[in-house]
Amino acid sequence: MSEDLKSKVEGWLDAHWDSINNRQVGTAIYDAKTWLAKVVDAGYATPTWPVKWHGLGLSSKEARVIENAFQTRGAKGWGRDRYHLGAITIFKLGSDALKTELLYELLTGPICCLLYSEPGAGSDLAGVRTRAVKDGDEFVVTGQKVWTSNAVEAEYGMLLTRTDMDAAKHQGITFFIFPMKQAGVEVRPINQITGESEFNEVFITEARVSERFIIGEYNQGWKSFQTAIASERLIMGQGITARLGGAAAGKAPALLQLAHKHGALQDPVLRQDIAQALAYRQLNALNMLRAKEEMMKNGASSLSSLGKLAMSRIQHGEARISAKILGPQVLFNETEDALNANFDGAKAYMNSIGGGTDQIQRNIIAERVLGLPKSMDVSRDIPFKDIKSG
Ligand SMILES: Cc1cc2nc3c(=O)[nH]c(=O)nc-3n(C[C@H](O)[C@H](O)[C@H](O)COP(=O)(O)OP(=O)(O)OC[C@H]3O[C@@H](n4cnc5c(N)ncnc54)[C@H](O)[C@@H]3O)c2cc1C
Repeated sequence: MSEDLKSKVEGWLDAHWDSINNRQVGTAIYDAKTWLAKVVDAGYATPTWPVKWHGLGLSSKEARVIENAFQTRGAKGWGRDRYHLGAITIFKLGSDALKTELLYELLTGPICCLLYSEPGAGSDLAGVRTRAVKDGDEFVVTGQKVWTSNAVEAEYGMLLTRTDMDAAKHQGITFFIFPMKQAGVEVRPINQITGESEFNEVFITEARVSERFIIGEYNQGWKSFQTAIASERLIMGQGITARLGGAAAGKAPALLQLAHKHGALQDPVLRQDIAQALAYRQLNALNMLRAKEEMMKNGASSLSSLGKLAMSRIQHGEARISAKILGPQVLFNETEDALNANFDGAKAYMNSIGGGTDQIQRNIIAERVLGLPKSMDVSRDIPFKDIKSG
Protein backbone atom coordinates (compact mmCIF):
# COMPACT_ATOMS: atom_id res chain seq x y z
CA MET A 1 0.00 0.00 0.00
CA SER A 2 2.77 2.43 1.01
CA GLU A 3 4.72 1.70 -2.20
CA ASP A 4 1.58 2.20 -4.35
CA LEU A 5 0.82 5.43 -2.54
CA LYS A 6 4.43 6.61 -2.87
CA SER A 7 4.51 6.10 -6.64
CA LYS A 8 1.06 7.66 -7.00
CA VAL A 9 2.08 10.83 -5.13
CA GLU A 10 5.45 11.01 -6.84
CA GLY A 11 3.75 10.64 -10.25
CA TRP A 12 1.29 13.40 -9.34
CA LEU A 13 4.08 15.69 -8.19
CA ASP A 14 6.19 15.00 -11.27
CA ALA A 15 3.20 15.96 -13.42
CA HIS A 16 2.34 19.12 -11.49
CA TRP A 17 5.33 20.47 -9.53
CA ASP A 18 8.44 21.92 -11.16
CA SER A 19 11.05 21.25 -8.48
CA ILE A 20 13.80 23.09 -10.34
CA ASN A 21 11.95 26.41 -10.35
CA ASN A 22 9.83 25.71 -7.24
CA ARG A 23 6.47 26.39 -8.84
CA GLN A 24 3.59 24.69 -10.51
CA VAL A 25 4.44 23.13 -13.89
CA GLY A 26 3.66 25.49 -16.76
CA THR A 27 3.54 28.69 -14.68
CA ALA A 28 5.93 31.65 -14.68
CA ILE A 29 5.79 32.42 -10.95
CA TYR A 30 4.74 30.56 -7.81
CA ASP A 31 1.11 31.39 -7.10
CA ALA A 32 0.35 30.09 -3.60
CA LYS A 33 -3.44 30.12 -3.85
CA THR A 34 -3.64 28.20 -7.13
CA TRP A 35 -1.04 25.66 -6.03
CA LEU A 36 -2.61 25.13 -2.61
CA ALA A 37 -6.02 24.64 -4.22
CA LYS A 38 -4.50 21.95 -6.43
CA VAL A 39 -2.94 20.16 -3.46
CA VAL A 40 -6.16 20.43 -1.41
CA ASP A 41 -8.26 19.13 -4.34
CA ALA A 42 -5.94 16.12 -4.62
CA GLY A 43 -6.41 15.43 -0.88
CA TYR A 44 -2.67 15.77 -0.20
CA ALA A 45 -2.94 18.80 2.11
CA THR A 46 -4.99 16.99 4.75
CA PRO A 47 -4.64 13.28 3.93
CA THR A 48 -5.69 12.08 7.41
CA TRP A 49 -9.06 13.83 7.20
CA PRO A 50 -12.16 12.23 5.67
CA VAL A 51 -12.82 12.63 1.93
CA LYS A 52 -15.83 14.81 2.84
CA TRP A 53 -13.44 17.36 4.39
CA HIS A 54 -10.79 17.47 1.63
CA GLY A 55 -8.82 14.47 2.89
CA LEU A 56 -8.15 10.89 1.85
CA GLY A 57 -8.98 9.09 5.12
CA LEU A 58 -5.39 7.84 5.44
CA SER A 59 -3.41 6.91 8.57
CA SER A 60 -0.66 9.17 9.96
CA LYS A 61 1.92 6.67 8.66
CA GLU A 62 0.50 6.91 5.14
CA ALA A 63 0.36 10.68 5.42
CA ARG A 64 4.13 10.67 6.12
CA VAL A 65 4.65 8.98 2.72
CA ILE A 66 2.93 11.95 1.08
CA GLU A 67 4.84 14.49 3.19
CA ASN A 68 8.18 12.84 2.34
CA ALA A 69 7.44 12.97 -1.40
CA PHE A 70 6.52 16.67 -1.14
CA GLN A 71 9.52 17.53 1.03
CA THR A 72 11.98 15.70 -1.25
CA ARG A 73 10.81 17.90 -4.13
CA GLY A 74 10.52 21.09 -2.09
CA ALA A 75 6.79 21.20 -2.92
CA LYS A 76 4.54 23.24 -0.62
CA GLY A 77 1.10 22.56 0.82
CA TRP A 78 1.65 19.27 2.66
CA GLY A 79 0.78 18.67 6.34
CA ARG A 80 -2.02 21.20 6.71
CA ASP A 81 -3.78 18.64 8.92
CA ARG A 82 -0.76 18.88 11.24
CA TYR A 83 0.26 22.54 11.08
CA HIS A 84 -2.64 24.81 10.03
CA LEU A 85 -3.99 25.66 13.48
CA GLY A 86 -7.04 27.55 12.21
CA ALA A 87 -8.11 24.77 9.86
CA ILE A 88 -7.37 22.04 12.44
CA THR A 89 -9.49 23.83 15.05
CA ILE A 90 -12.42 24.35 12.68
CA PHE A 91 -12.12 20.72 11.54
CA LYS A 92 -12.23 19.48 15.14
CA LEU A 93 -14.82 21.84 16.64
CA GLY A 94 -16.70 23.58 13.85
CA SER A 95 -20.24 22.65 12.88
CA ASP A 96 -20.66 21.02 9.46
CA ALA A 97 -22.04 24.35 8.22
CA LEU A 98 -18.94 26.24 9.40
CA LYS A 99 -16.64 23.63 7.90
CA THR A 100 -18.48 23.86 4.58
CA GLU A 101 -18.27 27.65 4.64
CA LEU A 102 -14.65 28.11 5.73
CA LEU A 103 -12.47 25.02 5.65
CA TYR A 104 -11.56 25.12 1.96
CA GLU A 105 -10.86 28.85 2.12
CA LEU A 106 -8.61 28.40 5.17
CA LEU A 107 -6.74 25.49 3.63
CA THR A 108 -6.07 27.30 0.37
CA GLY A 109 -5.55 30.74 1.87
CA PRO A 110 -2.75 32.32 3.81
CA ILE A 111 -2.52 32.97 7.51
CA CYS A 112 -4.85 32.65 10.48
CA CYS A 113 -3.41 34.52 13.48
CA LEU A 114 -4.07 33.90 17.17
CA LEU A 115 -5.93 36.72 18.93
CA TYR A 116 -5.50 35.49 22.50
CA SER A 117 -3.14 37.62 24.66
CA GLU A 118 -4.21 41.04 25.91
CA PRO A 119 -2.34 43.71 27.90
CA GLY A 120 -4.04 42.37 31.08
CA ALA A 121 -4.36 38.69 30.12
CA GLY A 122 -1.37 36.55 29.13
CA SER A 123 -0.62 33.64 31.43
CA ASP A 124 -4.02 34.18 33.02
CA LEU A 125 -5.72 34.09 29.65
CA ALA A 126 -9.20 33.40 31.04
CA GLY A 127 -9.08 37.06 32.12
CA VAL A 128 -9.65 38.33 28.54
CA ARG A 129 -11.66 41.56 28.42
CA THR A 130 -12.24 41.99 24.69
CA ARG A 131 -16.04 42.17 24.55
CA ALA A 132 -18.30 40.57 21.95
CA VAL A 133 -21.88 41.84 22.24
CA LYS A 134 -24.70 40.16 20.37
CA ASP A 135 -26.46 42.29 17.76
CA GLY A 136 -28.96 40.31 15.69
CA ASP A 137 -27.14 37.39 14.11
CA GLU A 138 -23.78 39.12 14.54
CA PHE A 139 -21.49 40.11 17.40
CA VAL A 140 -19.90 43.54 17.81
CA VAL A 141 -16.33 43.20 19.06
CA THR A 142 -14.30 45.83 20.94
CA GLY A 143 -10.97 45.37 22.73
CA GLN A 144 -7.22 45.05 22.36
CA LYS A 145 -4.97 42.09 21.65
CA VAL A 146 -1.19 42.09 21.89
CA TRP A 147 1.81 39.98 20.81
CA THR A 148 -0.22 38.74 17.84
CA SER A 149 2.19 37.04 15.42
CA ASN A 150 1.52 37.51 11.70
CA ALA A 151 -1.48 39.79 12.25
CA VAL A 152 -0.52 42.07 9.35
CA GLU A 153 -0.87 39.31 6.75
CA ALA A 154 -3.66 37.35 8.44
CA GLU A 155 -7.08 37.17 6.83
CA TYR A 156 -8.63 35.45 9.86
CA GLY A 157 -7.80 35.29 13.54
CA MET A 158 -8.91 32.86 16.21
CA LEU A 159 -10.37 35.28 18.73
CA LEU A 160 -11.05 34.84 22.46
CA THR A 161 -13.76 37.20 23.69
CA ARG A 162 -15.80 37.90 26.82
CA THR A 163 -19.50 37.40 26.13
CA ASP A 164 -20.98 37.19 29.63
CA MET A 165 -19.76 39.54 32.36
CA ASP A 166 -22.08 37.93 34.95
CA ALA A 167 -20.62 34.46 34.53
CA ALA A 168 -17.43 33.28 36.26
CA LYS A 169 -14.11 33.91 34.55
CA HIS A 170 -13.85 30.66 32.57
CA GLN A 171 -17.59 30.47 31.75
CA GLY A 172 -18.46 33.66 29.87
CA ILE A 173 -15.96 33.30 27.02
CA THR A 174 -16.76 32.73 23.34
CA PHE A 175 -14.22 31.66 20.71
CA PHE A 176 -14.62 32.97 17.16
CA ILE A 177 -12.96 32.71 13.80
CA PHE A 178 -12.74 36.40 13.08
CA PRO A 179 -12.31 38.19 9.71
CA MET A 180 -9.32 40.54 10.05
CA LYS A 181 -9.73 42.58 6.89
CA GLN A 182 -12.58 44.86 7.95
CA ALA A 183 -13.18 48.36 9.27
CA GLY A 184 -12.58 48.51 13.01
CA VAL A 185 -9.47 46.29 12.97
CA GLU A 186 -6.21 48.18 13.27
CA VAL A 187 -2.93 46.25 13.34
CA ARG A 188 0.12 48.04 14.73
CA PRO A 189 3.48 46.23 14.42
CA ILE A 190 5.65 46.12 17.55
CA ASN A 191 9.22 47.08 16.69
CA GLN A 192 11.74 44.79 18.36
CA ILE A 193 15.30 45.73 19.33
CA THR A 194 16.52 43.40 16.56
CA GLY A 195 14.79 45.59 13.96
CA GLU A 196 12.20 42.88 13.27
CA SER A 197 8.46 43.14 13.92
CA GLU A 198 7.27 39.61 14.57
CA PHE A 199 4.39 40.68 16.76
CA ASN A 200 1.61 43.23 16.62
CA GLU A 201 -0.93 45.01 18.71
CA VAL A 202 -4.43 44.58 17.33
CA PHE A 203 -7.00 47.25 18.21
CA ILE A 204 -10.57 46.16 17.58
CA THR A 205 -13.27 48.83 17.63
CA GLU A 206 -16.84 47.77 16.96
CA ALA A 207 -15.77 45.22 14.36
CA ARG A 208 -18.24 42.50 13.41
CA VAL A 209 -18.30 38.75 13.33
CA SER A 210 -21.19 36.50 12.38
CA GLU A 211 -22.61 34.08 14.97
CA ARG A 212 -22.00 31.39 12.34
CA PHE A 213 -18.29 31.91 13.08
CA ILE A 214 -18.44 30.78 16.72
CA ILE A 215 -15.98 27.91 17.23
CA GLY A 216 -17.72 25.41 19.47
CA GLU A 217 -20.48 26.80 21.68
CA TYR A 218 -21.56 30.27 22.78
CA ASN A 219 -20.10 31.04 26.24
CA GLN A 220 -18.14 27.75 26.15
CA GLY A 221 -15.12 29.24 24.41
CA TRP A 222 -12.68 28.27 27.16
CA LYS A 223 -13.39 24.61 26.44
CA SER A 224 -12.93 25.10 22.67
CA PHE A 225 -9.76 27.07 23.30
CA GLN A 226 -8.25 24.07 25.17
CA THR A 227 -8.42 22.10 21.94
CA ALA A 228 -6.75 24.89 19.93
CA ILE A 229 -3.97 25.50 22.46
CA ALA A 230 -3.30 21.76 22.87
CA SER A 231 -2.87 21.50 19.08
CA GLU A 232 -0.48 24.47 19.14
CA ARG A 233 1.61 22.95 21.94
CA LEU A 234 1.63 19.58 20.21
CA ILE A 235 2.99 21.22 17.05
CA MET A 236 5.71 22.91 19.11
CA GLY A 237 6.57 19.70 20.96
CA GLN A 238 6.58 17.58 17.82
CA GLY A 239 8.91 20.02 16.13
CA ILE A 240 11.71 19.03 18.45
CA THR A 241 11.72 15.27 18.62
CA ALA A 242 14.07 12.59 17.37
CA ARG A 243 12.48 10.21 14.88
CA LEU A 244 11.78 7.06 16.83
CA GLY A 245 13.41 3.85 15.72
CA GLY A 246 15.64 5.55 13.17
CA ALA A 247 18.13 8.29 12.70
CA ALA A 248 17.49 11.34 14.86
CA ALA A 249 15.90 14.15 12.90
CA GLY A 250 16.35 17.88 13.30
CA LYS A 251 18.74 19.75 15.57
CA ALA A 252 20.41 16.85 17.42
CA PRO A 253 22.21 15.53 14.32
CA ALA A 254 23.12 19.13 13.48
CA LEU A 255 24.58 19.35 16.96
CA LEU A 256 26.45 16.11 16.36
CA GLN A 257 27.76 17.41 13.07
CA LEU A 258 28.90 20.59 14.78
CA ALA A 259 30.63 18.52 17.47
CA HIS A 260 32.34 16.33 14.86
CA LYS A 261 33.43 19.34 12.87
CA HIS A 262 35.05 21.01 15.89
CA GLY A 263 36.47 17.83 17.44
CA ALA A 264 34.21 18.21 20.49
CA LEU A 265 33.39 14.51 20.76
CA GLN A 266 36.88 13.92 22.16
CA ASP A 267 35.75 15.84 25.24
CA PRO A 268 33.99 13.35 27.57
CA VAL A 269 31.86 16.03 29.25
CA LEU A 270 30.63 17.51 25.97
CA ARG A 271 30.05 14.01 24.60
CA GLN A 272 27.84 13.26 27.58
CA ASP A 273 25.97 16.58 27.17
CA ILE A 274 25.29 15.79 23.51
CA ALA A 275 24.13 12.25 24.31
CA GLN A 276 21.77 13.69 26.91
CA ALA A 277 20.39 16.23 24.41
CA LEU A 278 19.67 13.40 21.99
CA ALA A 279 18.05 11.35 24.75
CA TYR A 280 15.76 14.28 25.66
CA ARG A 281 14.57 14.45 22.05
CA GLN A 282 13.89 10.72 22.05
CA LEU A 283 11.96 10.97 25.32
CA ASN A 284 10.00 13.92 23.99
CA ALA A 285 9.07 11.92 20.87
CA LEU A 286 7.57 9.23 23.12
CA ASN A 287 5.67 11.77 25.19
CA MET A 288 4.31 13.41 22.04
CA LEU A 289 2.98 10.05 20.86
CA ARG A 290 1.14 9.81 24.19
CA ALA A 291 -0.20 13.36 23.79
CA LYS A 292 -1.34 12.69 20.24
CA GLU A 293 -3.18 9.55 21.23
CA GLU A 294 -4.92 11.33 24.11
CA MET A 295 -5.89 14.18 21.78
CA MET A 296 -7.38 11.75 19.29
CA LYS A 297 -9.52 10.33 22.12
CA ASN A 298 -10.43 13.52 24.04
CA GLY A 299 -9.81 16.44 21.68
CA ALA A 300 -7.33 18.10 24.05
CA SER A 301 -4.45 16.81 26.17
CA SER A 302 -2.50 18.37 29.02
CA LEU A 303 0.39 16.15 27.93
CA SER A 304 1.00 18.57 25.06
CA SER A 305 2.38 20.92 27.77
CA LEU A 306 5.19 18.41 28.33
CA GLY A 307 6.20 18.79 24.68
CA LYS A 308 5.94 22.57 24.76
CA LEU A 309 8.15 22.69 27.84
CA ALA A 310 10.55 20.09 26.41
CA MET A 311 10.90 22.16 23.23
CA SER A 312 12.12 25.23 25.09
CA ARG A 313 14.33 23.24 27.51
CA ILE A 314 15.94 21.28 24.64
CA GLN A 315 16.51 24.47 22.64
CA HIS A 316 18.10 26.17 25.66
CA GLY A 317 20.29 23.11 26.33
CA GLU A 318 21.40 22.70 22.73
CA ALA A 319 22.15 26.40 22.33
CA ARG A 320 24.31 26.18 25.49
CA ILE A 321 26.17 23.12 24.15
CA SER A 322 26.72 24.81 20.75
CA ALA A 323 28.16 27.84 22.55
CA LYS A 324 30.48 25.58 24.58
CA ILE A 325 31.68 23.89 21.39
CA LEU A 326 32.28 27.17 19.58
CA GLY A 327 33.72 29.04 22.56
CA PRO A 328 32.82 32.43 24.06
CA GLN A 329 33.78 34.25 20.84
CA VAL A 330 30.60 32.75 19.30
CA LEU A 331 28.73 35.95 20.15
CA PHE A 332 31.00 37.99 17.88
CA ASN A 333 31.71 35.51 15.08
CA GLU A 334 29.91 35.76 11.79
CA THR A 335 30.53 32.17 10.67
CA GLU A 336 27.46 30.13 9.74
CA ASP A 337 27.93 27.90 12.81
CA ALA A 338 28.12 30.91 15.13
CA LEU A 339 25.12 32.62 13.56
CA ASN A 340 23.08 29.42 13.87
CA ALA A 341 24.05 29.00 17.51
CA ASN A 342 23.18 32.61 18.33
CA PHE A 343 19.91 32.41 16.45
CA ASP A 344 18.92 29.19 18.21
CA GLY A 345 19.79 30.74 21.55
CA ALA A 346 17.59 33.76 20.89
CA LYS A 347 14.78 31.56 19.56
CA ALA A 348 14.95 29.43 22.71
CA TYR A 349 14.18 32.46 24.88
CA MET A 350 11.22 33.51 22.72
CA ASN A 351 9.92 29.95 22.61
CA SER A 352 9.95 29.83 26.43
CA ILE A 353 7.17 32.44 26.31
CA GLY A 354 5.08 31.99 23.13
CA GLY A 355 2.26 29.43 23.44
CA GLY A 356 2.32 29.89 27.26
CA THR A 357 5.46 30.33 29.38
CA ASP A 358 7.57 27.49 30.81
CA GLN A 359 6.22 28.32 34.28
CA ILE A 360 2.64 27.92 33.07
CA GLN A 361 3.46 24.58 31.40
CA ARG A 362 4.96 23.44 34.70
CA ASN A 363 1.77 24.46 36.52
CA ILE A 364 -0.36 22.51 34.02
CA ILE A 365 1.86 19.43 34.26
CA ALA A 366 1.79 19.62 38.07
CA GLU A 367 -1.97 20.01 38.31
CA ARG A 368 -3.36 18.04 35.39
CA VAL A 369 -0.71 15.40 34.65
CA LEU A 370 0.74 14.74 38.12
CA GLY A 371 -2.51 15.49 39.97
CA LEU A 372 -0.96 17.91 42.49
CA PRO A 373 -3.27 20.42 44.24
CA LYS A 374 -4.41 23.39 42.17
CA SER A 375 -2.89 26.78 42.87
CA MET A 376 -5.32 29.21 44.47
CA ASP A 377 -7.26 31.60 42.21
CA VAL A 378 -9.49 33.87 44.29
CA SER A 379 -11.21 35.22 41.19
CA ARG A 380 -12.14 31.82 39.75
CA ASP A 381 -15.73 31.49 41.00
CA ILE A 382 -17.02 35.05 41.21
CA PRO A 383 -18.86 36.88 38.41
CA PHE A 384 -16.30 38.31 35.98
CA LYS A 385 -17.70 41.84 36.37
CA ASP A 386 -16.74 41.76 40.09
CA ILE A 387 -13.07 40.90 39.47
CA LYS A 388 -10.81 43.81 40.34
CA SER A 389 -8.38 44.84 37.61
CA GLY A 390 -6.10 47.69 36.62
C1 LIG B 1 7.43 34.19 20.14
C2 LIG B 1 6.09 34.59 20.71
C3 LIG B 1 4.94 34.50 19.93
C4 LIG B 1 3.71 34.88 20.46
N1 LIG B 1 2.61 34.83 19.64
C5 LIG B 1 1.41 35.14 20.14
C6 LIG B 1 0.25 35.12 19.29
O1 LIG B 1 0.34 34.86 18.09
N2 LIG B 1 -0.95 35.41 19.83
C7 LIG B 1 -1.09 35.72 21.15
O2 LIG B 1 -2.22 35.93 21.58
N3 LIG B 1 -0.01 35.80 21.98
C8 LIG B 1 1.24 35.52 21.49
N4 LIG B 1 2.35 35.61 22.32
C9 LIG B 1 2.18 36.07 23.69
C10 LIG B 1 2.37 34.97 24.73
O3 LIG B 1 1.37 33.98 24.63
C11 LIG B 1 2.38 35.63 26.09
O4 LIG B 1 3.48 36.53 26.12
C12 LIG B 1 2.53 34.61 27.21
O5 LIG B 1 1.38 33.83 27.33
C13 LIG B 1 2.85 35.29 28.56
O6 LIG B 1 1.94 36.28 28.85
P1 LIG B 1 2.44 37.76 29.32
O7 LIG B 1 3.42 38.21 28.29
O8 LIG B 1 1.23 38.58 29.53
O9 LIG B 1 3.23 37.51 30.64
P2 LIG B 1 2.63 37.41 32.12
O10 LIG B 1 1.44 36.51 32.09
O11 LIG B 1 2.46 38.75 32.67
O12 LIG B 1 3.80 36.64 32.87
C14 LIG B 1 4.96 37.33 33.36
C15 LIG B 1 5.83 36.29 34.08
O13 LIG B 1 5.14 35.78 35.22
C16 LIG B 1 5.09 34.35 35.17
N5 LIG B 1 3.78 33.88 35.68
C17 LIG B 1 2.57 34.40 35.42
N6 LIG B 1 1.60 33.69 36.03
C18 LIG B 1 2.21 32.67 36.69
C19 LIG B 1 1.76 31.61 37.51
N7 LIG B 1 0.46 31.41 37.77
N8 LIG B 1 2.68 30.74 38.01
C20 LIG B 1 4.03 30.91 37.73
N9 LIG B 1 4.52 31.94 36.98
C21 LIG B 1 3.63 32.79 36.47
C22 LIG B 1 5.21 34.01 33.70
O14 LIG B 1 5.71 32.69 33.51
C23 LIG B 1 6.17 35.08 33.22
O15 LIG B 1 7.50 34.69 33.49
C24 LIG B 1 3.61 35.32 21.81
C25 LIG B 1 4.77 35.45 22.57
C26 LIG B 1 6.01 35.11 22.04
C27 LIG B 1 7.23 35.30 22.86
